[in-house]
Amino acid sequence: MKDATRTVELCERGVANDLNACIEAPRELRKTPANFPAQVPQFNTPDLPFHSGRTGPKFNTPDLSVLLAATTFPPFPAADASSTHGDSDRQRELWKTHNADTTVDRGSRPPPTFPPSASFPVRDIMKICGACVRELPDGSYSEEQRGLRQSIRRCEECVAAGNQLVLMKKGRTRSEADDCPICQLPLPLDMEQSAFQECCMKRVCNGCILAAGKRGMRDCPFCRTQTSDSDDEKTLAMIRKRVAAGDPMALFHLGTKYHFGEFSNGLEKNMTRAVELYESAAELGVKEAHYNLGCLYDKGTDVEKDMAKAIRHYEAAAVCGHVKARYNLGATEYNAGNRDLALQHYLISAKLGHDVSLNKVKDFVHGRSSDQG
Ligand SMILES: [Zn+2]
Ligand SMILES: [Zn+2]
Ligand SMILES: [Zn+2]
Repeated sequence: MKDATRTVELCERGVANDLNACIEAPRELRKTPANFPAQVPQFNTPDLPFHSGRTGPKFNTPDLSVLLAATTFPPFPAADASSTHGDSDRQRELWKTHNADTTVDRGSRPPPTFPPSASFPVRDIMKICGACVRELPDGSYSEEQRGLRQSIRRCEECVAAGNQLVLMKKGRTRSEADDCPICQLPLPLDMEQSAFQECCMKRVCNGCILAAGKRGMRDCPFCRTQTSDSDDEKTLAMIRKRVAAGDPMALFHLGTKYHFGEFSNGLEKNMTRAVELYESAAELGVKEAHYNLGCLYDKGTDVEKDMAKAIRHYEAAAVCGHVKARYNLGATEYNAGNRDLALQHYLISAKLGHDVSLNKVKDFVHGRSSDQG
């Protein structure tokens, strides 16, 4: 009991990180229940029962609408820098009006009451909207939308308001990581026009390599390490050293070595190892790793074909600005008959400089079908 009092105290001061304990504490211990929901955003962690989507919550969830009403949602991801707050406010308004029956006006909100645990309602099935990224009750979706996968499913308000999918709002520009570290210009999409430096795990554009060569520099133009293309063993040792240091790029790069069995000695093609390394790198946010995983699962020659996984990885890469992943998403949607989504993807990758995507967009404009174009 003493512990429960302590938790409630801490919770009210906003320092305890245990919402469960606070909710489970006997009601009489909650001295100022009005303050409690105001602190909910602070506990916005994946452990929260209404975010996790896991079955079998550890405790009976209090009325979700009370928590939702009290939660300040983070601003919606903007399409670009010029996007305004007006949009998100409008969406929030829409959301509020839609839930007028359960949502209490924030200004005159009475202290929420938590019903005794025995009468807690069974939790609705929640689904995530791909546009406003909130987990909403199943009833917030039309039948057609319910059948879609999470990233392209939209709640009825978002459909009505024409809100763009997050998938289309993010990754519309090349990331800074795609810049040549020397001249700071975006690397050409053609991989032949840049070279990967194993010493520093940087990709340097051919222009900078040429410029360095003209000045007589024969070592890495970025970090000045002596390298030799022919010495696989030395290069491999260099990569392994970076892998040991936990460099995500090195994890990915070693993955490609196992994937393609590139080195003549000491390293053979090993798909299991390649996928492991790709997955570790992808977890650390390397978009190229996501892309390669997407391609592997898409093709299904080296690993078991799994289109759902492929799309997930393509999407993860595309929202980070991976151009070819974006194009592949377009192609996947096109083949699935979702021409509208396909065009949206193609427009993004075309704007990022992908010629093939530009041609696809032209086909759309001229009403040609992709297979004829
Ligand atoms: Zn929505
Ligand atoms: Zn450069
Ligand atoms: Zn280097």
